[in-house]
Amino acid sequence: MASNTQRCSFCGRSNDEVAMLITGETGAICDSCLEQAYEVMHQHTEKYSRKKGANFGKLKLADLPRPADIKKYLDQYVVGQDDAKRYLSVAVYNHYKRLLQPSTNDGVEIEKSNIVMVGPTGTGKTLMARTIAKLLKVPFTIVDATVFTEAGYVGEDVESILSRLLQVSDYDIPLAERGIVFIDEIDKIARKADNPSITRDVSGEGVQQSLLKLLEGTMVNVPPKGGRKHPDQDYAHVDTSNILFICGGAFDGIERKIAQRLNTHVVGYNSVVNATHIDRNDLMRYILPQDLKSFGLIPEIIGRLPVLTHLDQLDRNTLRNILTEPKNSLIRQQQKLFKMDGIDLQFDDDALEYMVDKALEYKLGARGLRSIVEAIMIKPQYELPSSGVSEFRVTKEFAQEQLEKSSVRPLN
Ligand code: ADP
Repeated sequence: MASNTQRCSFCGRSNDEVAMLITGETGAICDSCLEQAYEVMHQHTEKYSRKKGANFGKLKLADLPRPADIKKYLDQYVVGQDDAKRYLSVAVYNHYKRLLQPSTNDGVEIEKSNIVMVGPTGTGKTLMARTIAKLLKVPFTIVDATVFTEAGYVGEDVESILSRLLQVSDYDIPLAERGIVFIDEIDKIARKADNPSITRDVSGEGVQQSLLKLLEGTMVNVPPKGGRKHPDQDYAHVDTSNILFICGGAFDGIERKIAQRLNTHVVGYNSVVNATHIDRNDLMRYILPQDLKSFGLIPEIIGRLPVLTHLDQLDRNTLRNILTEPKNSLIRQQQKLFKMDGIDLQFDDDALEYMVDKALEYKLGARGLRSIVEAIMIKPQYELPSSGVSEFRVTKEFAQEQLEKSSVRPLN
């Protein structure tokens, strides 16, 4: 009967000749034609994506989180760092506004304000970026500047930033073109003027020049599926002029530069009076773009990062709060793990204090807290699920005993 010999409407092969035939009301498609159609569609990623970008039109100013809302959200996960939180919240909100700015002919065009966050390692720069990403209505990606090298060297080209942004945008180019990129460890691409290596300064000025182009806004050819360029691949053309860049870096030793600048400026009667107000223990507060320059970032890059904010070193109090306060604090995570085994887990106050003491002593900062908690909890995590107990209390003595047995050691 005719109904048994259905054919693919594209290649004409019958259902006996193909592995699978998907039939519709008026036609059918076989598995291999379907695969080919899928490939063709993706080879034209760009055209395909241009249409998808229409989604972005749905963003409305009224629906956007206001800076105070963004900060409140950050407060749930990130302890302290109020200045940086405010700067970041405003910058992200302005980024949205800029994308939604009405095209009036008043000659005013809101410019993009890329950000640079300076602060010691482990003080919450990445955490802040990650947290904000959860709240955002635009694509967001985090990249590490240390992997970049000049084109042609082993490592990644700066353009690879855009491959990742494209990936998280599901290859929707117009959407990616409005995204936010967090570049961590920006200080590591500072020019190494006294580089003792006889090879070229592959991670210095050349990388900064490529990055500069991205920050300024340029059209970049990105291999759509990331990875190495391949001659057969169609490139996606991504315009970076509307992408917001947030950079973070420890800039170790920058306080010395700030102090030097403050000292050199302290001349004349008025300056001496002002100098008495300088808080020597909190020099980061006085950071200015020129301090980054003396650190090896080229002036053009600094000019393209007009919003400069700092993160504070975590003191004892903040470390103590980090253990218990954030919504997904280390202690809450441990409690949840144990609760899943029906065990109520509690920590004595002096056990928590002990952990903070050790993190300070080991100079491991907040990142160290995690290793310390893990080291202390490994034994109960191993033994308790099969022990039948319904509660467990971590005392200072227990914490001390476990940590001393572990391999967590101070940094020198
Ligand atoms: P960096 O400043 O080097 O980017 P991270 O954000 O990666 O530091 O911080 C490392 C870890 O330390 C985070 O995952 C988080 O657990 C903890 N942490 C650091 N700073 C804070 C903070 N201000 N509030 C809460 N947790 C923090």
